[in-house]
Amino acid sequence: KNLKKYYEIPSTKIGGKSQYVKALDDISFTLQKGEILGIVGESGCGKSTLGKTILRLHEKTEGEVIYNNTDLFSLTKSELSSIRKDIQMVFQDPFSSLNPRKKVEALIGQPLKIHKEGNIIERSKKVESIMEEVGINPLYKKRFPHQFSGGQRQRIGIARALALNPELVVCDEAVSALDVSVQAQIINLLLDLWEKHKLTYIFIAHDLSVVEFISTRIIVMYLGRIVEIADKKELVERHVHPYSKALFEAFPLTNPHNRQDKKRVVIGDVPSPLNPPKGCHFHPRCPYAMERCKREYPPLKEISKGHSVACWIEN
Ligand code: SF4
Ligand code: MG
Repeated sequence: KNLKKYYEIPSTKIGGKSQYVKALDDISFTLQKGEILGIVGESGCGKSTLGKTILRLHEKTEGEVIYNNTDLFSLTKSELSSIRKDIQMVFQDPFSSLNPRKKVEALIGQPLKIHKEGNIIERSKKVESIMEEVGINPLYKKRFPHQFSGGQRQRIGIARALALNPELVVCDEAVSALDVSVQAQIINLLLDLWEKHKLTYIFIAHDLSVVEFISTRIIVMYLGRIVEIADKKELVERHVHPYSKALFEAFPLTNPHNRQDKKRVVIGDVPSPLNPPKGCHFHPRCPYAMERCKREYPPLKEISKGHSVACWIEN
């Protein structure tokens, strides 16, 4: 709710005044149990910061993260630690997020140990059953991360996140480092686990086709703000924000609605989040920009049930 995360950039201090990157600038949304909420946007748009701030791995600048009626930022360290069991994260890079000197059984068992779940035998049993669930032979539990392929390592990362039976799993670019065929396997694994354990996911990725495939609802972010939010089907059929249109052009899906718009924006030419342009942050790249867009930021406005857009064309 109204979440803000600003980073001070000390090297840019001019005349005693610091400059800030507004990584998250007034982000509000709700998440229902059982949803897979996709968050998509180019790198630098604040997606990862959002994921980490929700887990309180970062402190916020302003706002609240309300989880089952509790603002996570109001909790003490030990209160937070017990809630952390319910909210886990799968990271972008399975290569760097796993300690190379630890065996797989220790890596997957570590969260159980930290939270004092069961005795050593119970923990070992749990590790074996989770390994099986994510498709890794439990006989390999004495192996080290480097003895596995990239896809297998991400399976280990997922097993680790699931060890404590969480409710919510935040996946941050969880398949981005993998080959396309392996991506599909991991996404299918995540979907199987979601169904089986009645999980809730926040699925963060820059690749719209991946987000479109897995999500039930999608948020499009641009330079620290939400520019469009809608159910997946609605967004695929009727993306309204010019930036969403550009994303759908850049990641063509099997959707006839994509090709109607001839005005194009080049995706990949990422703007600096330091000092984003005044008014609508997207105006320098927007083929529809009007005078007003350069002066005022458009509020997020609901255009149909559950579908909101921040663009002056719709206001
Ligand atoms: Fe383009 Fe203006 Fe809409 Fe921003 S508010 S996306 S500049 S039309
Ligand atoms: Mg990121």
